[in-house]
Amino acid sequence: MLLLFDIDGTLTRGGPARAAFAHALERTFGAAGPVFDHDFSGKTDPLITRELLTEAGLPLRDIEAGLPRFCRCYVTELEARIAAHPVTALPGAHALIGELAGRGDVFIGLVTGNLEGGARLKLRSAGLWDHFPVGAFGSDHEDRNELPSIALRRAAAHWGRPFHGTETVVVGDTPLDVACGRAVGAATVAVATGRYSIAQLEAADADRVLAGFADVEAAREAIVSAGLP
Ligand SMILES: [Mg+2]
Repeated sequence: MLLLFDIDGTLTRGGPARAAFAHALERTFGAAGPVFDHDFSGKTDPLITRELLTEAGLPLRDIEAGLPRFCRCYVTELEARIAAHPVTALPGAHALIGELAGRGDVFIGLVTGNLEGGARLKLRSAGLWDHFPVGAFGSDHEDRNELPSIALRRAAAHWGRPFHGTETVVVGDTPLDVACGRAVGAATVAVATGRYSIAQLEAADADRVLAGFADVEAAREAIVSAGLP
């Protein structure tokens, strides 16, 4: 069984990502759009960039042309700020991930809209990076629904055995996480530690909905049982 975790609102909170994003947008494009009011949750970083700059009135070709430079700049800006504004692991995340990573019967990885460089910085800050040998990132594809299949391929290459969507659980904090899991036939577990309530996540049709990981035993049971046939 492969368990694929989102980062922001699922494993972590806080950190300087929005300020780094704003700074990198200004430096790269000379515009940042409504960056401090925009809803980032569940979206990939390239999609957020496109949305903000479209709001700011930039033509698509300029956005496309600047995106690689923006991505490098954002990761640099994030790295410069993260020591002063660390990312925090959500309650129970360390215990849950540590325990799952130590089991022989499950494999764990990431599916996140963060650029790979941003994901690494955030999870290092929270003390969780070393548990995740594989993942799919916003730097792999702008469409989150494409990410789980990329993670499955990387897991297969890393562990030397095939992985299928039907033996996978996608764990996240937004309806977009639930949708991307469903796109590969994975089971889905949603946690209400981001911007969405338990009722909203139930309405998104997640297979299991949790208040969070603070009750580590209940979280582990819900996640692993979701992935059983
Ligand atoms: Mg999230």
